[in-house]
Amino acid sequence: MPRIRSTTLPGGETVPVLGQGTWRMGEDPNKRKDEVAALRAGIELGMTLIDTAEMYADGGAERVVGEAIAGRRDQVFVVTKFYPQNATRERMAAACDRSLRRLNIEQIDLYLLHWRGEVPLKATLAGFDDLLGARKIRYAGVSNFDVDDMEELARLKGGVERIVTNQVLYNLERRGIDWDLLPWMRKRHRPIIAYSPVEEGLLAHAQHVLKRVAERHDATPVQIALAWVVREDGVIAIPKAADPKHVRENRGAADIKLTKRDLEELDESFPPPEGKKPLEMR
Ligand code: NAP
Repeated sequence: MPRIRSTTLPGGETVPVLGQGTWRMGEDPNKRKDEVAALRAGIELGMTLIDTAEMYADGGAERVVGEAIAGRRDQVFVVTKFYPQNATRERMAAACDRSLRRLNIEQIDLYLLHWRGEVPLKATLAGFDDLLGARKIRYAGVSNFDVDDMEELARLKGGVERIVTNQVLYNLERRGIDWDLLPWMRKRHRPIIAYSPVEEGLLAHAQHVLKRVAERHDATPVQIALAWVVREDGVIAIPKAADPKHVRENRGAADIKLTKRDLEELDESFPPPEGKKPLEMR
């Protein structure tokens, strides 16, 4: 199986365009073994970017990730997120230490503000500087930031330089960012990380056009939905799959190149935005 295509972070490091999500993992101890196995299967297939958050299962998902990557740390790019109420310098330092412990690693690869809260962005940037300086994190980023939030960030000293990505909702059904946020990020050579790329599994039960395009590629609707999300450079998709069958299926999406005809047919059923839409979030 060929390697998964990669995209470049500011600074030159590359990451695969298909990773793995972990929301709703770590909630049920009876499912833990399967969740760990699914993540490991994904790593073996090259989906080595793993996304988690202190919020998921109240730290439980980070523990599952910690177990899955034990003995494989060097192969994996670990992304985790902190709550907006922890976005001050002091609280970020403490939240980061807790995440490191649960993940059982020395350093987080990419640390994201989960969504914007009350804490001024300047304080959060200072918190990121502390953690970067202490080598507890390698990169900093944000999540659920619309263009006006990114603009505000960019006006702060070091704002846009420091922030290497923005993780947002993006899939065929929710493509508002095609209008403005995605071009904004591309212009600044910052990839977005697309969450809920298969609309929480709903695109698996798809009808009409996804099925038709899938048949042409000897693929499945989910694979087409994922191939669409990563169709152009600058987007990383992080489908969550606890079922190993889903993990393998998702990996297959990385090898599909959609044609002009595919994209036109998908545009007809999932029309691109014709103007600004406020950023949607979960
Ligand atoms: P998603 O990845 O679009 O969908 C996950 C659901 O789809 C699961 O129920 C999964 O089932 C199912 N699924 C996955 N692959 C499938 C396949 N090939 N065929 C059929 N069903 C399939 O939604 P998500 O979990 O909301 O988003 C992905 C990740 O993004 C999250 O896990 C999380 O890490 C991140 N996220 C971030 C934010 C944020 O605010 N930053 C918000 C939401 C999500 P099984 O588990 O049974 O395989």
